[in-house]
Amino acid sequence: MKQFLFNTFSDKKDFKIGAIDRFEFEIPSLRISLISNCNEKCFYCHNEGISSKMPSVIQTGDIINAIYSVKDYGLRKVKFTGGEPLLFKDLKNLLYSVKHVGDMDIFITTNGALIKKRIKDLSPNIISKISVSLDTLSEEKYKFITDKSLLNDVLAGLELLGKNGYKVEIDNLLLKGLNTDKQSLKNIINYCIKNGFDLQFIELSDKTTAGVYDKYYVDPVKTLRKIGLDFNTEKLNDRKFFKINGIKVTLCRSVKNLRESSAGRCSGLRLLPNGYLKDFFYE
Ligand code: SF4
Repeated sequence: MKQFLFNTFSDKKDFKIGAIDRFEFEIPSLRISLISNCNEKCFYCHNEGISSKMPSVIQTGDIINAIYSVKDYGLRKVKFTGGEPLLFKDLKNLLYSVKHVGDMDIFITTNGALIKKRIKDLSPNIISKISVSLDTLSEEKYKFITDKSLLNDVLAGLELLGKNGYKVEIDNLLLKGLNTDKQSLKNIINYCIKNGFDLQFIELSDKTTAGVYDKYYVDPVKTLRKIGLDFNTEKLNDRKFFKINGIKVTLCRSVKNLRESSAGRCSGLRLLPNGYLKDFFYE
């Protein structure tokens, strides 16, 4: 793995990870795609550029080696994603092992449908935050979006997280005609307030297929202004937030927009399920 990293850094002529130059850089975050497949089939899924057919071969040992290799470059944050990261069998051992590597925050992003099954492998003392995708509270729309009838599993999993003291953030992707009317926006805010979960609205990425983007994209700033949330900051990466009844509400702009406003803020490395490394902004 060290060899992998060495090659990655040496070969990349324009390598910039919070970079000062090619040989002096920081890697504040490592995003680890544990597995390429998923138990849902969201119509907008671009899987961050990873094919669901990519072999998922990385094991806990590889991941720990990768973290050790970059930890002295200012690593502060490890984020587990997929596909669906809760499908990774050795999750419990992995989380404990990463915690022992050093003082860094561990995040998981999940669709939430397997939380109930995997709760015994998780720990609020290890995981700094779990982000759970929840675009709608309507069963019918959930099925339409994900092609699965798993909303009740997700809600049951979220209830468990709440009861067990996890810090939870709901990720709500804004999709025109599905969840951007005032009532849907209010419903998701009220659900988060009731459960004490932070809420992140997300702008649809242009990395999704063109038909989907054209049909479902909405301007997130205009949409959220309808319910009194004005995210129109001059710099798109300002990460302005609102506190509503104790919960934090943020807006995550798409990578394209972040790129236009800041080349460095979201920088980091990604470890792919096949063992390769990429910089955070895949092309
Ligand atoms: S849950 Fe995430 S990874 Fe799975 S299909 Fe939906 S968007 Fe893709």
